[in-house]
Amino acid sequence: MELFSQKVKPSELEKGDHVYTWRKKIYTHHGIFIGEGKLIIHLVNPKADGLLHVSTASKSWISSGRGRNKEITTCAMSDCGLEKVVGSGVRVSCIDCFIKKGSLYRFKYEASREFLLAKLRGGTCTTARSDPPKEVIHRATYLLENGYIEYDLINNNCEDFALYCKTGLWSKDIGYQGRSSQANMVHSTKKEDIINNYVEWLKTAIPRSCLKRENKDLGVREDVEKVPVEELSSFHLNL
Ligand SMILES: [Zn+2]
Repeated sequence: MELFSQKVKPSELEKGDHVYTWRKKIYTHHGIFIGEGKLIIHLVNPKADGLLHVSTASKSWISSGRGRNKEITTCAMSDCGLEKVVGSGVRVSCIDCFIKKGSLYRFKYEASREFLLAKLRGGTCTTARSDPPKEVIHRATYLLENGYIEYDLINNNCEDFALYCKTGLWSKDIGYQGRSSQANMVHSTKKEDIINNYVEWLKTAIPRSCLKRENKDLGVREDVEKVPVEELSSFHLNL
């Protein structure tokens, strides 16, 4: 077995788990497993990840943003692909559609400093503590039902969404919510380069030093506080 492997089989998942899968072998996509027919709630970029399932009854699909057709699925599972607040990017998917052709991994909470530093890439673990599964699922389902803060590749991406659902921690500094996620774990020169071609940028980016990454870990940050999910929107707007 690979040392520190976080790979899990779908049958091993527990409700409230923060899961991720590798995309293009370069970056990780994150979500919260809620059970209920093996569903995962996750945040996608509504502008780039174009197609969503709006009606389980008619099995119809609508296009938003640039609408890349490759996202169309023929998944038969009820609710898979459903975005209750259309355009919010908060979506529910079955495990197969979430992982596509990849594998499933469990994000580790309360990781030791040694574990954190042993991971060469960001986006897999934190020293922060997870709240109980019931609270985690409540946050994820509330955001599915009511919408969420606008997606931002650097400061509010799929990993930030899952980290918030697990911990309830939100930054008091506007623009710094995403400080702990993989998007901020590499050196960058221009924000535009990242936004224009995330995959190419990640390929060439230099991993941050271990110390820098440790300082940005959600478990040690002092700019975050617990914000109830019902108050998240107003808290964020008032920053
Ligand atoms: Zn599906």
